[in-house]
Amino acid sequence: ARANEQHKLIAIALPEDESAFASRLTFMCGLQKAIREDELELHYQPKIRARSGKTAALEALVRWNHPTEGMIPPDRFIGLAEETGDITKLTEWVIRRAIADQGRLLKLGHKLPIDVNISGVMIADPNFAWDTLMLFTAVQGDIGFEITETAMIADPARALENLRTIADAGIKLAIDDYGSGFSSLAYLQQLPVSELKIDKIFISRLASGQRDPLLVRSTIELAHALEMEVTAEGVDSPEALALLQVMGCDMLQGFHLSRPLPFDRLVTYLESESANASAPMTTSHQLL
Ligand code: C2E
Ligand code: MG
Ligand code: MG
Ligand code: MG
Repeated sequence: ARANEQHKLIAIALPEDESAFASRLTFMCGLQKAIREDELELHYQPKIRARSGKTAALEALVRWNHPTEGMIPPDRFIGLAEETGDITKLTEWVIRRAIADQGRLLKLGHKLPIDVNISGVMIADPNFAWDTLMLFTAVQGDIGFEITETAMIADPARALENLRTIADAGIKLAIDDYGSGFSSLAYLQQLPVSELKIDKIFISRLASGQRDPLLVRSTIELAHALEMEVTAEGVDSPEALALLQVMGCDMLQGFHLSRPLPFDRLVTYLESESANASAPMTTSHQLL
């Protein structure tokens, strides 16, 4: 009956052809089942401190391990979850799982903060902070939130209020994909944010580009002036890594350093990192 209701609603809202519509509906019901039955999984991508070359934190990235379609990337279902409202349940699942994995890592001797991506739809939702904060106080993990600038567009005052509530509860906030969307310096200054992540589009062009080094350099300076730490995402070449180190970028994330890893491979990665504890990152002195 519930599926039928959704069927009607969507049929009215979206004039699609029968088969696209049917597959969309199957996908949607499947997502609710996926959340209930643990078909989702988290992969973790290290955030590496530029000075030491050591993992300083992890970013949790969700995947849907679909019984017939295989591993589905988040870009294919997060938007849908936002439309249907399933995003709240999904995010709760992500936070719970991240906290559980953080506990498992701690038992293995790895004490690391974990950052989760929070949809702008939730930041704009008046009930958002309450639900999440209750979850947090109940379980007490060392979890930070990454939010994109788009969270601020629909209702900036409401979003700001929610972000302040979250920050007041001691949850670290990062701006994700900075520079890719609507960036207002006026807002940036007001936001209770301690980390700025430069969008990978600027970083991937670093190795070849002409103007981008200037953009990245000035963004790093801006963030530092606002007393924020800067993370570069999409560091996928040794050239980009070397440049970012010289520019004073605080943290680095990207395929050149590590892809997002399933839990077991993350553990292997962290073990080999502690085994090589004395070896610093090799690139910066070569460039200097
Ligand atoms: P994001 O938070 O900006 O995450 C970075 C994305 O870039 C990830 O894709 C990551 O695998 C990819 N990436 C990392 N390093 C490199 C690199 O060197 N080169 C390139 N080309 N790509 C790199 P992924 O895992 O497919 O996630 C895509 C987006 O989906 C995320 O972007 C985030 O916005 C969203 N997402 C992922 N997990 C969640 C979640 O649990 N909740 C919500 N609301 N959104 C999520
Ligand atoms: Mg992110
Ligand atoms: Mg990002
Ligand atoms: Mg992104």
